[in-house]
Amino acid sequence: MDQTEEKVVLKIKERAYQIIIALLVLACLGVGMSDPHVVSEKNKMTQKIVLIRDDDVKDDTAALEWMTNTIIAKDAKCTYATIPHLLTQSSITYLKSLDPARFELATHGYDHTETENQVAVMATAKDLMIADFGRVPTSIAPPYEIVPPGFADEAKKLGYHSQINGNIDSSTGLYTFPFNFRWESGWNQYNASYHSLDDFKKSFDGWYNNSSQRVFTINVHHADLYENAGAMKNFSSSLDYMNDKGGIFFTTEEETYQEVTKVKNR
Ligand SMILES: [Zn+2]
Repeated sequence: MDQTEEKVVLKIKERAYQIIIALLVLACLGVGMSDPHVVSEKNKMTQKIVLIRDDDVKDDTAALEWMTNTIIAKDAKCTYATIPHLLTQSSITYLKSLDPARFELATHGYDHTETENQVAVMATAKDLMIADFGRVPTSIAPPYEIVPPGFADEAKKLGYHSQINGNIDSSTGLYTFPFNFRWESGWNQYNASYHSLDDFKKSFDGWYNNSSQRVFTINVHHADLYENAGAMKNFSSSLDYMNDKGGIFFTTEEETYQEVTKVKNR
């Protein structure tokens, strides 16, 4: 081998090393990019959110246990709108035992009879929630969705972040999520009537496929639902339906509030 040939061989070796190093770097990057944790965190920022609020939580009945177990089994989350004055000691123990990351406890009035005078009882209701659960409630749901004057200002003053309701002036600063789907289609004095699973799918798909809204809110009353086997089955199937769609994640109301305002403020 003369000197020129040696130089050529060296050049080839050098180039081969460069290619190997470049391939190694690409391989490392590839591994980084396909890290499932990294990907899921990134997707979470743009994924659609489903928020379920279950109303009139007051005692630890079989109905509430059924709702809790269904939410856990389907890996969903739920915000329980809790009536502080009607809680029993055993319901307090039961609700305290639930994972707060999966079950948020929101304040649903004081004893659910107050409507026009509820601004006056909001501070007491909040104190009761703190005394019973040792957590500061941040989501509020006025009974019968009746929002008297001063409600939002008082709620904000007491540290509430949001409510799900169609009836509030958002200029007050209390974040309001509109209802997208209520399982009850009507009420009479004995029981509730329910939408079908197809009604749910139509409403959900309309949002999933077309809406620019990031959040889909669902409202249900576990105690009424529990009296209707067909409606229970449909509610449970709706959770499977959403899970099978993919690209959505379930949140509590407070988690939704944090997520939505974080994206807004970026
Ligand atoms: Zn209620």
